Amino acid sequence: MPEGDALYRYAKMLRPALEGNVIRAARAQGPGPVPRVEKIIGATPTRIHATGKNLLIHLDNGLVIRGHLRMYGSWEVYRPGEPWRKSPRNARLVLETASAVAVNFNAPVVELIEERALEHYSPVANLGPNLLDDGFDRDEVIRRFRDPLLAGVTIGDALMDQGIMAGVGNIWKHETLFRCGINPWRTVGSLDEQQLVDLVDMARGLLRASVGLENDLGLRRRPRAHVYKRTGQLCFRCSTRLRAGPQGNDVRHTTWCPGCQPVVPGQPEPPVRMRATRR
Ligand SMILES: [Zn+2]
Repeated sequence: MPEGDALYRYAKMLRPALEGNVIRAARAQGPGPVPRVEKIIGATPTRIHATGKNLLIHLDNGLVIRGHLRMYGSWEVYRPGEPWRKSPRNARLVLETASAVAVNFNAPVVELIEERALEHYSPVANLGPNLLDDGFDRDEVIRRFRDPLLAGVTIGDALMDQGIMAGVGNIWKHETLFRCGINPWRTVGSLDEQQLVDLVDMARGLLRASVGLENDLGLRRRPRAHVYKRTGQLCFRCSTRLRAGPQGNDVRHTTWCPGCQPVVPGQPEPPVRMRATRR
């Protein structure tokens, strides 16, 4: 599942292919609504960046291409004429410059927005501070976590709420909670200020390390997963068998270590369902 770090890498990959280069040809296809490519052809991308799980390509004609990848979307860049690694049937948007072909595969959302409308456009405007940004505002994130409406929400769900802070998906949710020793079913309201600060700093450090940026954790590369997709295996740290249970509206399970992330008295018991993963 693309998380903030994956979007960051896509933006970095697309920049040399597209920024400053005229789009000579563009094609789009469904399922779902498709952007009007005649408005893209002849324009030049001026700025490409990721915010939350959106990838934004600003054009010099006042329009912005917004792609949201959800679970299965991806971007790839090819040289003209180079065979694609994925089926053209799944190409949602193709952008061709003189020297590169950028292809968006399987994104459920690809649309054109007026740049001046962007700051009021809810999928982008309602995002919390971006964990990967240099000027990341941690105090603002803590303030958002303290919204009384969130007090009863489990921290496993809240960490992925892009309206609180943008960037965490399923993998880094797992790994952040494990490394902070917090049970995913604890409620936001049960966590004190320091625990929230530690969670935010950990998520930021892991994401930044994952894309090779300097980070306060001192990590030099993408950290390995301690709990994500390791249900039924033994904890690297305490050798307890990892367990999983359903969480949130999601059909996926959250995995945790009962030894390192104990249930706190008075807090919800995780809905346990053992399930071994084959890896
Ligand atoms: Zn453990």
